[in-house]
Amino acid sequence: MTDYRNFPMVPRVIFGRGSFSQIGEIIEHKRTSQTAPFIFLVDDVFQSDDTFISSIPLKNIDKIIFVNVDDEPKTKTVDKYRDDIASEFSELPMGIIGIGGGSVLDYAKAVALMLTNPGSSADYQGWDLIKKPAIYHVGVPTISGTGAEVSRTTVLTGPVRKLGMNSDYTTFDQIILDPVLTQGIDKNQWFFTGMDCYIHNVESLTGTYINAFSQSYGEKSMDLCREVFLEKDEFDEDAQDKLMMASFHGGMSIAYSQVGVAHAMSYGLGFLLGTHHGVGNCIVFDQLGEFYSEGVIEFKQMVVKHGIEIPQGICKGLSDKDFNIMIDVALSLEPLWENALGKNWKEIATREKLRSLYELM
Ligand code: NAD
Ligand code: ZN
Repeated sequence: MTDYRNFPMVPRVIFGRGSFSQIGEIIEHKRTSQTAPFIFLVDDVFQSDDTFISSIPLKNIDKIIFVNVDDEPKTKTVDKYRDDIASEFSELPMGIIGIGGGSVLDYAKAVALMLTNPGSSADYQGWDLIKKPAIYHVGVPTISGTGAEVSRTTVLTGPVRKLGMNSDYTTFDQIILDPVLTQGIDKNQWFFTGMDCYIHNVESLTGTYINAFSQSYGEKSMDLCREVFLEKDEFDEDAQDKLMMASFHGGMSIAYSQVGVAHAMSYGLGFLLGTHHGVGNCIVFDQLGEFYSEGVIEFKQMVVKHGIEIPQGICKGLSDKDFNIMIDVALSLEPLWENALGKNWKEIATREKLRSLYELM
């Protein structure tokens, strides 16, 4: 008997500068009704970009919904989008197209799943709880790093936990990788989301779950990250292209391994303080020299090279109760710890150890 995971991959990928202009023809084969819409969930950072918005090929009753991502995706917001769409249209949409960063990509996956699965998205946070296929869903990343474009999860904060809806139906049916869309991102955000990818690679490559599949993707992603963040001085077209592919490969690497300590502890920060994923990972990783010595040294070189300030002191003044909430969230992510530290991880990752690390942040 073997127990290998049989996981889905995105079946269709288009890559290239300007490839977004082909979206109309790409989704056309799914246009089977005049009375059902395509719904475009678009990051509201693009709301005033008339040129870009007019390039979205709306037909019939297709609709754009602008999505605000000041807060990362929540189960109740997913449920609301689903309810609004279901009450506005008499038929199920023909597809959901998410255009934005990891947050909008996750909204698109989640809304596509919740249009066919009853109840609240909070009921499906976990592994393989989704029972019915999603409607057709397409991801168009506009910032690179999370790997959300290839993953089989959509990370949501719910009433009790911050956890993904992990399922074979979550993965996109199509992704459009157009590096032109990643132009003009704020430098800090570019760095934090890019570091999500770098940290995925470190956690995957140094983890106990590592295997040739994950290593082959992780090493390629690592090479690309080093080129973008250590060798190059500007985020030029070449760097945009490479970081987009680094994100893709990094996501593929963790698909068959796992992330580690930085992600576990960053989820704690995210749950209690609302700290966003990219910056949260950087705040944590900065303090993880004892677990990832070489990775942390290289990370600090990247921080200095790009003149980034990692927020400090965010846990100052927190109560014992607050620390315990974060520690509970972090320690509940058992596979991440086991990947990072091995079967006996509980001996190393004690509550006291996590408390002392959080106090440094
Ligand atoms: P994000 O989607 O939260 O966006 C960050 C900021 O960048 C926002 O202000 C957004 O408006 C802005 N932005 C996006 N594209 C832009 C562009 N082209 N120009 C200017 N501004 C732009 O950031 P992210 O780091 O990509 O995603 C983080 C989210 O992804 C978190 O919610 C995290 O949980 C999730 N995530 C999911 C997975 C997964 O596998 N599903 C993996 C990692 C992270
Ligand atoms: Zn991540």
